[in-house]
Amino acid sequence: MPNAQLTDRFGRTINYVRLSVTDRCDFRCVYCMAEDMTFLPRQQVLTLEEIARLARTFISLGTEKIRLTGGEPLVRNDILDLVREIGAMGLRDFAMTTNGNQLTKLAQPLRQAGLKRLNISLDSLDPDRFHSITRTGHLNQVIDGIDAAREAGFDGIKLNVVVMKGRNEDEVPALVEFARGRNLDISFIEEMPLGQITEHHRGESLFTSDQVRAMIRQHHDLVPATADSGGPARYYRMPDSNIQVGFISPHSHNFCATCNRVRVTVEGRLLLCLGNEHSVDLRRVLRGYPVSDDKLRDTIIQAMDLKPERHHFSSDGDVQILRFMNMTGG
Ligand code: SAM
Ligand code: SF4
Repeated sequence: MPNAQLTDRFGRTINYVRLSVTDRCDFRCVYCMAEDMTFLPRQQVLTLEEIARLARTFISLGTEKIRLTGGEPLVRNDILDLVREIGAMGLRDFAMTTNGNQLTKLAQPLRQAGLKRLNISLDSLDPDRFHSITRTGHLNQVIDGIDAAREAGFDGIKLNVVVMKGRNEDEVPALVEFARGRNLDISFIEEMPLGQITEHHRGESLFTSDQVRAMIRQHHDLVPATADSGGPARYYRMPDSNIQVGFISPHSHNFCATCNRVRVTVEGRLLLCLGNEHSVDLRRVLRGYPVSDDKLRDTIIQAMDLKPERHHFSSDGDVQILRFMNMTGG
């Protein structure tokens, strides 16, 4: 039954899957991780073969777009082998979200392995701030990585900025100019309450997409673009540039009606919604005996019934979801 469609109880077609390939990372961004993280034992993490099998199974169920994420996907050994394998599966779109720290070395090989698009996180253009937000990162290394990605000829590159009040919100205009100058799309993200962090209080650091838009409008007109990604982002264009400016607003925008995506954590838990705890253990099926692709497909199809109608984030800063973003990849 190739290319069957996955649909949920609310009539939404699920054709986009985000696969987390590792919970580890070479950064410790303040909004994503605690400084002192304990990572999963290796045997609990899906093998590359298991991840590739999941990708193949989802594609047989109508998935058209896969994004690899993490943690930091580029710290996983042999990630290029996985990219090559999934890259040959004929997806309409194949993307990765990365912190950019290893792109000087890996941008070209990733492109050659079949990756089509990259999202690269960049929260500050000030080296000291960048280091304090990422706790370990060096800005020049990531900027060189962004430039290496541009040279590698990806179909699209987008910068991701998590905007935090009192930390980097004053850099919104400079980040927009950076993106315009390099002809890169850019998205501004409201911080989500995933995982208990100690470094700041999330309620106090929330800087909304409306506020970001108002800042940009002091310098540029923003015209709504028609593209609907089926996700939490709303896109705008500027009359004098080709780039798109996105706003990812889990707090202020209810995007759930058009949600087309699910996520698989690094432990093989199928998450039906980033803002809810509903999940199904696919690793148990992947490692079950006898090996059965039919069972895996049936489990995924049935899991769609658990997809909730909407998320339940609120903006008071309380932690509603106990897992960290590095488990699910955002
Ligand atoms: N390591 C890669 C990176 O940083 O791009 C990929 C994984 S990271 C978890 C995916 C995206 O989630 C990044 O753009 C990051 O900025 C964002 N992110 C992490 N924690 C977040 C949070 N609590 N709220 C909003 N965005 C978050
Ligand atoms: Fe690592 Fe990405 Fe989380 Fe930053 S946001 S700590 S780069 S996984």
